[in-house]
Amino acid sequence: MTTTTKPNAIRLSDDVLLSKLADVEQDAETSHSLEDDDNFIFTDVCIAGSGPIAATYASTIIAEHPTAKVLMVEIGSQDSLVAGEHHKNTIKFQKDIDSFVHVIKAALQPISVPPSDSYIPTLGGDAWAPKVNETLITEGHNPHQNPKTNLRASAVTRTVGGMATHWTCSCPVPDAEERKENPIENLDDLLDEAKTLLNVHSDQYDCSIRHTVVKEALLKAYPNRGITNLPLAVERRKDNPDYVTWTGTHRILEKALESDRFTLLTETRFTRLVLHQQKPGEISAAKIRDLRNNRDKYVLAKAFIVACGAVVDSIPHDPRFAERAEEHKKKYPNDPIPIPFNDPEPQIMIPYTKDFPWHVQVHRDAFSYGDIGPKADSRVIVDLRFFGKQDIVESNQVHFGQPPPTPADGWKPAVTDIYGMPQPTFEVVRYDGDAERDQRMMRDMTDVANVLGSFLPGSAPQFMEPGLALHITGTTRIGVDPKTSVADPNSKVHGIKNLWVGGNGCIPDSTACNPTRTSIAIALKGARSVVNSLPVDDTN
Ligand SMILES: Cc1cc2nc3c(=O)[nH]c(=O)nc-3n(C[C@H](O)[C@H](O)[C@H](O)COP(=O)(O)OP(=O)(O)OC[C@H]3O[C@@H](n4cnc5c(N)ncnc54)[C@H](O)[C@@H]3O)c2cc1C
Repeated sequence: MTTTTKPNAIRLSDDVLLSKLADVEQDAETSHSLEDDDNFIFTDVCIAGSGPIAATYASTIIAEHPTAKVLMVEIGSQDSLVAGEHHKNTIKFQKDIDSFVHVIKAALQPISVPPSDSYIPTLGGDAWAPKVNETLITEGHNPHQNPKTNLRASAVTRTVGGMATHWTCSCPVPDAEERKENPIENLDDLLDEAKTLLNVHSDQYDCSIRHTVVKEALLKAYPNRGITNLPLAVERRKDNPDYVTWTGTHRILEKALESDRFTLLTETRFTRLVLHQQKPGEISAAKIRDLRNNRDKYVLAKAFIVACGAVVDSIPHDPRFAERAEEHKKKYPNDPIPIPFNDPEPQIMIPYTKDFPWHVQVHRDAFSYGDIGPKADSRVIVDLRFFGKQDIVESNQVHFGQPPPTPADGWKPAVTDIYGMPQPTFEVVRYDGDAERDQRMMRDMTDVANVLGSFLPGSAPQFMEPGLALHITGTTRIGVDPKTSVADPNSKVHGIKNLWVGGNGCIPDSTACNPTRTSIAIALKGARSVVNSLPVDDTN
């Protein structure tokens, strides 16, 4: 990997930079004269974002193209020694999973924030307060957002590695019903490849007493629901099996990081794409801003990729556990629970089926909610997470900017977020089909929970805030018909020669299962189409 730190004294206005860019577009010769101009960066491929999908593009292109140079632009900073490492790999969090909840909470920044409630009834009369009909709009709030149609809990993580620096690593394969609209023919092969890239295993918790006991209880109650181990991007450490290594973006990015054809710019905003003025349907450059000094530059590339996104009494007598339980009892005679402290948590899946169209995880993991605090011993707690789906409805949408009262009025520009990027406005409603499925899912969750035990006070079954699953799909869906999709089956944007999109937004289906493995499968195909579009530089 290389990093560029050329000092440059001259800061030109955007108009001057754009006019230089226009010269380059007109005359290929000029581009040579710009190569020493520090306001322009030349590369073959420019990728926005550094999450697992951007990393899939970078590594595949570096591995499968002999000469292509790849520049990755990430708005967040590098928060770990190894770029994109999973934060849960530290011993600290493996010993105390509940404290990881705070890491996740800190990592998530909401994306559409309605104006805050600016009325404080108890505020002293002397203090400044907005007038009766004034709304307080602070930077980063979106006055166009209707709170009722918002995905309030949807959030982004701005750091090298994206959300895969904290994700739960659940990697199920979508059911046939969850891939009806997917136009990729060899999706199964690509999902297998994504499995290898993510280092997915299903047997790393078989050694756990808790896992075995919970799984057996569920299998007994529901012998026909395909209850199985949860496929996870994780591997138990060989040097110390008390700990595991979760797959973070670092693993996917490995091949790129080893190459001197790869450059990562951190704390740099990918601001916008510039359309080629001479060649319609082609992107000529990307405008980027170094947030440390607010300096703008233009990246000239042959291909652009936008991938910045969008959860026990018989144990001592069971011969399989008796020895470990006995040993634990000897060490801690006063502990009433016959489970060693280092016994790994359960990791079980009840898969999506036609009759039960939701994805279920039974485990004990951190999320932005649900820390159990000192109320109970973590060894006797399991989390039940049920992931429902949402029917595909065209009016459920996200837009940037304020819609015009009539089409002739034109859109008003979007309010910006704290990073100066346009803020999305969601219009998402759950319709009758969704509501009916949600209620069936809730009943199922309660039944399954009762097989295992009773609810921890304060943890009764509940619907979480819309968007909390962080699985927004379909915003840049792939498909063959440009009327109903943004990009083709190769993730190349319809009507544009050199622009690809990546991320969960590309998934065209209504899905319940976790999306990352599917998005990586889609990105692998996209990356190969970028590789095929690039010439080989044989000048060296
Ligand atoms: C608590 C939690 C648990 C999860 N569990 C699972 C799970 O078990 N299974 C699963 O499949 N998924 C899970 N996910 C979701 C999973 O992490 C995402 O699906 C995945 O990270 C999406 O990858 P991505 O590369 O598309 O986007 P992201 O990981 O969101 O990365 C996008 C990157 O783009 C950067 N960026 C944004 N805007 C700009 C800009 N203008 N310029 C430059 N850079 C920009 C961001 O800083 C970020 O680094 C979980 C997520 C969280 C937070």
